[in-house]
Amino acid sequence: MHNHFRDKGESLYYFFDTFDKLLECPDCSSCIILKCKSSIICCNHCGYLKDISLGHVTTRWGSNYGVCYDHKLWLRTPCCGRELWAFNKEHLHYLFNYITADIRGRTPYINQSVASRLPDWIKSSKNKIQLKKALERLERKMEVIQ
Ligand SMILES: [Zn+2]
Repeated sequence: MHNHFRDKGESLYYFFDTFDKLLECPDCSSCIILKCKSSIICCNHCGYLKDISLGHVTTRWGSNYGVCYDHKLWLRTPCCGRELWAFNKEHLHYLFNYITADIRGRTPYINQSVASRLPDWIKSSKNKIQLKKALERLERKMEVIQ
């Protein structure tokens, strides 16, 4: 039975914009859930508060590092000398499906999709086992907050 990954052309923006994002509190390292469309980053554990609508937040998200609105993402883990990261569980599951797939289908002419824009080290089949382990670490991290 093959696990067939079908690229439906979801863009990174889709995962960023459609679902809650998980950030790491800069003060106590707890997980902060930044609600979709909300501009208030608020830690329920220590009371850290930041209103990102007030400006001076330069980074919406990073490419090589898991950063979002100048805050570290909660779902980050070292992998293959890099950092593997995801905005939320939906993004994590997408990456898991991609990496564990034996066959990667692709919708033509969609070059905005996450799959087509993934860095080479994630696309590389020789990193597949390490990537799968890294994603499993992130899955376990998700379980802590559910
Ligand atoms: Zn905190």
